[in-house]
Amino acid sequence: MDWSLLACGRSGHVTYAPDEPGPREQLSAPTSAGTAWRCLRCGTFVTGEPGGSGPAGHAPEVRRDDQVRSAFILRLFAIERFLRAILFGAGAYVVWRFEYSRVSLEQAFDRELPVVRTLFRQLGFDVDHSKLVGLIRHALTLSSGSIGLLAAGLAVYAVIELIEGTGLWLGKRWGEYFAMVATSIFIPYEIYDLTAKITVTRVIFFAVNLALVLYLVITKRLFGVRGGKRAYEARLRSESIMASAIARAPAAAPSGATAPPPAAAAPSTAAPPAAAPSKNPNST
Ligand SMILES: [Zn+2]
Repeated sequence: MDWSLLACGRSGHVTYAPDEPGPREQLSAPTSAGTAWRCLRCGTFVTGEPGGSGPAGHAPEVRRDDQVRSAFILRLFAIERFLRAILFGAGAYVVWRFEYSRVSLEQAFDRELPVVRTLFRQLGFDVDHSKLVGLIRHALTLSSGSIGLLAAGLAVYAVIELIEGTGLWLGKRWGEYFAMVATSIFIPYEIYDLTAKITVTRVIFFAVNLALVLYLVITKRLFGVRGGKRAYEARLRSESIMASAIARAPAAAPSGATAPPPAAAAPSTAAPPAAAPSKNPNST
């Protein structure tokens, strides 16, 4: 599947006219309908006014191919995190209500449970056989201080899931790190949980968390895996249409052109701008 085209189909092409003549020539093509500009995401030449213009370095950074797919996958994980936040937020609320009302905890529990049960069932979660409700039932026999702690614990978990979800939805690197660390913390407990008893819910929770951690570490190169951040960003640059237009520009421009050498793009040793500076050795 062409994820770049998919993204362009949804939110339109991204065209940009750089001021520098070299990259400008690379990214434009004369047509009978006027100048066409190359889309920075899918690579198609699109007729009409460019979406923006200015120095090549100020061109919008667009997600392409794998990055579009990656953003899509992370948003699926984000949705799952948001559902968890709702689930545990509701749990925290119910427990807090018990402590707050103090009338009769058992009564309050029975009164609130049908509502919660319906909500959770719609999320595909069987309340009657959940550890959460077991915890709540257990909490009914505890002191009010312990109940408060339990409510706080559930609320904290809900907030963690909310932050994870937000970070993953926005595709921020901090979000990827946060989700990876926060999710890893619970994995030992989930393994322990599975050794106690294997249920469908537990297996799904565990599988989703494990998949997220592995996906983040491997594809996002967290903690220096596969070259870490430097390799990750180098790959993004190498896949950027604007970057390759800048890289190709000096070779295409005639030697007498006044275009300044793109020093920022190629910080390697000063190669003579003569024949073929095509491949710069990507030494690590
Ligand atoms: Zn496009």
